[in-house]
Amino acid sequence: MSNNKFCNDSLDTPIFGSEKMLEPAPCDKMPEYSTPGAVAYQMVHDETFPQTQPRLNLATFVTTYMDEYATKLMNESISINYIDETEYPRVAVICGRCINMIANLWNTPQKDKWKTGAVAIGSSEACMLGGVAAWLRWKERRKSEGKPYDKPNFVISSGYQVVWEKFAQLWQIEMRTVPLTLEKPTLDAEDALSMCDENTICVVPIMGVTWTGLNDDVKALDKALDKFNEKTGYDIPIHVDAASGGFILPFLDPDHKWDFRLKWVLSISTSGHKFGLVYPGLGWVVWKDKEYLPKEMNFSVNYLGANISQVGLNFSRPAAQILGQYYQFIRLGFKGYQCIQQNSMEIARYAHQQIGEMECFKNYSKDICNPLFIWYMNPNYEKNAKWTLYDLQSKLQENGWMVPAYTLPANIQNIVVMRIVVRQGTSRDMIDMLLDNMRQAVVELDKLEYPTPSRIAQNKSMQQKGKIFTH
Ligand SMILES: *Cc1c(COP(=O)(O)O)cnc(C)c1O
Repeated sequence: MSNNKFCNDSLDTPIFGSEKMLEPAPCDKMPEYSTPGAVAYQMVHDETFPQTQPRLNLATFVTTYMDEYATKLMNESISINYIDETEYPRVAVICGRCINMIANLWNTPQKDKWKTGAVAIGSSEACMLGGVAAWLRWKERRKSEGKPYDKPNFVISSGYQVVWEKFAQLWQIEMRTVPLTLEKPTLDAEDALSMCDENTICVVPIMGVTWTGLNDDVKALDKALDKFNEKTGYDIPIHVDAASGGFILPFLDPDHKWDFRLKWVLSISTSGHKFGLVYPGLGWVVWKDKEYLPKEMNFSVNYLGANISQVGLNFSRPAAQILGQYYQFIRLGFKGYQCIQQNSMEIARYAHQQIGEMECFKNYSKDICNPLFIWYMNPNYEKNAKWTLYDLQSKLQENGWMVPAYTLPANIQNIVVMRIVVRQGTSRDMIDMLLDNMRQAVVELDKLEYPTPSRIAQNKSMQQKGKIFTH
């Protein structure tokens, strides 16, 4: 039944004159009849229209800009399934080349033509694969020694990304967390070792801690672990979660040793779709040599007439991101990546400095080591503030910006911070616009006569914790 007496949908009905546009969006059941493509397109397109523009989303680490050729290439390969190696053999070759280049960026000692690694949907899958490999290697060793292997654990800082919690839950491996504090804002090697025992499958330092942007000191950890392993006879390795840092450090700080140059680093994972500069979803994991990838993880499948070997949790997955990564490697080259990451870093430093100069804020760290940083409300200012960073987040949203406010992990969870991630496509001019909007927002918030609901809630929770304004 039409609510529009003039309307009798046919192929030439104008999109916004069609009956469909009067109906609520299908929600529970699939619509009974078809909808003209133009109308269906418009409905879905418009549903996502009022969301944040991806480029103004300074919350995400994930690529929101690629050039036209990259976009064309990825669109052209949108229908290609990566797993169909027989039909699309060049995709598999290109994937292998990407793994080679990334392994070399991380100074792999492996001499084989094809380095040992795997493509993933993101760092989450890549971390899982690195973690599972460490677990299986440990298990194999324990078995061969006739020792029990039913209580594995791994050690990581409390600044872990949620994937490690999933890893712990899904594989039932105990996660031991080293608390981060204001005094120890990154993983402390000695604290980490104090949690290690014969059941520890690996220690996981993070390059580019999601919460703070800081880097764990892998070199110090490696050194301490070397002594520890020597003393105890254990063989505890390191998996580096380099979701962000994996594509920053090789370009901006090549002498910094955090990668396969270190003895106990046996695997590293990263997100191709973060600073690898490819649209989502793409991740990579690389092992130091083939002996570190347990055979049980290398599945040989006979599929569509060929024997292919596959490492990964997924079977089918899009090939487009792999081609996108390879394109970026060719298009940008080492120098191109260097220029882009350097610009992101400079722009992040500029924003960091400007925000640090604002009376109401205090930067979390003096320096930044990845193009992202966090800040919190200056405690002196906070005493009389009627607003919180959550209010500022809402204010900035009115101008289209997404700058997230959140609380830090356990032990420092009373600190509300705000974060900016600067990526390719975030220009100095955009940051200036954001800073203007921020200063203006602060002026307006400062005029408030009464505390906002979020201020009232925050004061209450800080009082309850007996931690008011002490940070
Ligand atoms: C983003 C991130 C992940 C998860 O990566 P995805 O690519 O989003 O799956 C894991 N670890 C760290 C440190 C991250 O920053």
